[in-house]
Amino acid sequence: MKLLFEKGTMTYPAEIKTKYGKIIPLEVTSRIYKIPGQPPVGVCIARDITDRVKMEKELKRLSEVDSLTGAYNRNKYKDIISKEIERAKRYKYPLSAIMFDLDFFKEVNDKYGHVTGDEVLKDMVSLIMRNIRSGDYLIRWGGEEFLIIAPYASSKDAYLLAEKLRTQAELRYFSSEGVRVTLSFGIAALTENEYEMSFIKRADDALYKAKNSGRNRTEVY
Ligand code: GH3
Ligand code: MG
Ligand code: MG
Repeated sequence: MKLLFEKGTMTYPAEIKTKYGKIIPLEVTSRIYKIPGQPPVGVCIARDITDRVKMEKELKRLSEVDSLTGAYNRNKYKDIISKEIERAKRYKYPLSAIMFDLDFFKEVNDKYGHVTGDEVLKDMVSLIMRNIRSGDYLIRWGGEEFLIIAPYASSKDAYLLAEKLRTQAELRYFSSEGVRVTLSFGIAALTENEYEMSFIKRADDALYKAKNSGRNRTEVY
């Protein structure tokens, strides 16, 4: 009220709870009218901004996820990795990076076409999403390469997860064309004095080894 009296008019966010418990976001504009010889009068206009808030949330989501697959994009990765490395170090719990890539995916595109290739990527991501924990992050690293950041997972936990995903993928038929495709995995667990670059590089190196050792397999750095 003090501020409002000083400024005369103010616009600010607020919330209101309906009698059914639903919370509605509002934008409130308040104005004081000073009429000589009379007590001041305050007028508030509250706008329901549910739609605007929804749209802002949607825009935020779109800036963080890859539009084809719905996995997080590289932009969001930067937030995730710095936050999770810091947390893992502060609270002293393990953190694993699982890098994986579709095997011989170029052949899938060559044989079935790019549209089916896209469908395979989408189906693959939904398979992975169904099989990771809610606290794990799936990031599209680029092309047909993905990264899982798994808080609280030791390299052994990460290995078991990767093997579960690998065998699931191996058994599946992807897209409406029933495409078979396998995955190769590389794993690294964060060490005490390590930062992002070397952590992710080690997962990538392990993936490279999995590729060179015949593919459809998991390597731990
Ligand atoms: P490797 O087992 O060594 O990984 O073999 P690969 O054929 O999967 O690897 P390569 O890097 O030679 O080819 C990757 C292919 O993935 C080529 C590229 O066109 C395809 N690709 C990358 N992103 C997309 C995409 O968004 N959609 C489709 N359909 N294909 C993609
Ligand atoms: Mg590949
Ligand atoms: Mg690749």
